[in-house]
Amino acid sequence: MNADLEKLIELEKVDHEMARLSDEVSALPGRVALIETRLAEHKDEIEKAKTAIKNNEASRRKHESDIQAAQQKIIKYRGQSSSVKTNDEYRALMHEVEFAEKEIRDSEDKILELMVLLESEEKALKAAEAQLKVEAVEVEKEKAEARTRTAEDEKLLAEFAAKRTELRTGVNDSALAHYDRVLRARKSVVVEARGQKCMACFVLIRPQTWEEIRTNQQIVTCSSCGRILFYDPASEPPPPPESPKKKARKQVPEAAEAETEVPTEATPTP
Ligand SMILES: [Zn+2]
Repeated sequence: MNADLEKLIELEKVDHEMARLSDEVSALPGRVALIETRLAEHKDEIEKAKTAIKNNEASRRKHESDIQAAQQKIIKYRGQSSSVKTNDEYRALMHEVEFAEKEIRDSEDKILELMVLLESEEKALKAAEAQLKVEAVEVEKEKAEARTRTAEDEKLLAEFAAKRTELRTGVNDSALAHYDRVLRARKSVVVEARGQKCMACFVLIRPQTWEEIRTNQQIVTCSSCGRILFYDPASEPPPPPESPKKKARKQVPEAAEAETEVPTEATPTP
């Protein structure tokens, strides 16, 4: 095989691998940020649970002071009741006492409810704290993994970069320029030609060009998509029996099956 062609095949593998690694490296900070968000959410839950408990305590204190105030009122009303002159005044005072007693009962009910609620609030806090503990360990592990992966990827990238430079220095300039142009425009550059077709755009190759490709001795580009073509005898199917249909197919103009616009300034280089 032509030495440049061989190097370009190798170069493309290196370029694809480098692109994959670069993508992975740039995606990792995002992954770590996502993990951190998850941790922050658990911390938030703990804060909410703590706030709920604080509010519960504050409400209970409020009801307790309400009870004390009502008790004070009752003492005051009872004190006044001994010095009232009329039945109406007495009844009015007793009514106030009843009202204060009801206030006390209501507050006591509320306190009981709050104590029941407190139990579930404390349970929720404990669960959130336990989960955060588990999550924190997991997050540290994942972050460490991300750091290790990044370091490994960067080491590999450096190795591939060196290999890439080495491969590129050995290749003919115009072939290399063509390779770079096609790589920028398309996902693949060096593709197999099989059954007289470019396996990327499936355009039919002219017989003379096909013969050139089959030797693998020169850089030949697809007239339609501009990719560099190579031939692999191992994947060539056994020749089909001659038929009129095959003849007709050969007359199909190549442009009919062409892909998009073609970067084919580079002519086949020997
Ligand atoms: Zn093609």
